Amino acid sequence: MIQITMPLGFLGTVYREIRQALVDMGEMFDLLHQPAEIEDKPGANALKVQGGAISFDKVEFHYDPSRPILKGVSLEVPAGQTVALVGPSGSGKSTIGRLMFRFYEVTGGAIRIDGQDIRDVTQDSLQAAIGVVPQDTVLFNDTIRYNIAYGRDGASEAEIIAAAKAAKIHDFVMSLPEGYNTAVGERGLKLSGGEKQRVGIARTILKNPPILLLDEATSALDTQTERDIQTSLKAMGEGRTVITIAHRLSTIVDADCIVVLEKGEVVERGRHEELLAHKGRYAQMWARQSAEEEEEAGEAAE
Ligand code: ATP
Repeated sequence: MIQITMPLGFLGTVYREIRQALVDMGEMFDLLHQPAEIEDKPGANALKVQGGAISFDKVEFHYDPSRPILKGVSLEVPAGQTVALVGPSGSGKSTIGRLMFRFYEVTGGAIRIDGQDIRDVTQDSLQAAIGVVPQDTVLFNDTIRYNIAYGRDGASEAEIIAAAKAAKIHDFVMSLPEGYNTAVGERGLKLSGGEKQRVGIARTILKNPPILLLDEATSALDTQTERDIQTSLKAMGEGRTVITIAHRLSTIVDADCIVVLEKGEVVERGRHEELLAHKGRYAQMWARQSAEEEEEAGEAAE
């Protein structure tokens, strides 16, 4: 008997570890695909987060030496502020997120958090300090409770519920016959894109990281869902340093700073009103998106 159960127990552990690793990677797929072999420096210390200020200092990066992707990007995100990255597809927005998470190493310049070069700290401590809300939250084939609790080992029921309330998903969960025990994922209840994202937000609220990296969904959600999600993202951003990769400009009008990237360079930066008054790239993007949204609204009304 012992001979049978021991290998099974061992396999169970391996299975859980593999599943965990796959979900970790899957969760960050959009933002952080293709992991590279990056190792901690010998004797690297843990990151000491004070306020979570982020600084990109003349950051250069290429995936392939023949094709520079970031060409000297400098960005300051003061502790507790929100910076939105906008720009055409392929301009390097997600790459900035991947570099911050140190999934790839910068090829020039430096990224610092509270003054510490991220190459000098342990990756575990760096990644623990950053909460990622990806475009698509991956759910485990398990209960809603498990899916939220995954944000932090040992979270209490009260903490899970508080996170769900902050993410505006609690009322929905309570409307299900089995509440937090409802099985979700491929083999359970299929949640909508907006519900999944709110489970992801609850998970991140529970993790309670000082820094947030939000990869906004490109696909349009219905107006009410969009509003609910914006409300929960805003609640989550309170008191944290936030970098948002934005596709729809209407969601970032309140950002402390909007950074416009084009072909790996910062071409404009400022607040929404300042950039509109500047009548440059951002103002053009805004005019185009507003026209598209009006057209869509017109079509929907027909
Ligand atoms: P989108 O708005 O479409 O998500 P983005 O601004 O986030 O675009 P990135 O994903 O940062 O753009 O990509 C910047 C450039 O780097 C693109 O030209 C892309 O083709 C290239 N790129 C991205 N990932 C890789 C990779 N793993 N290997 C090689 N090139 C890559």
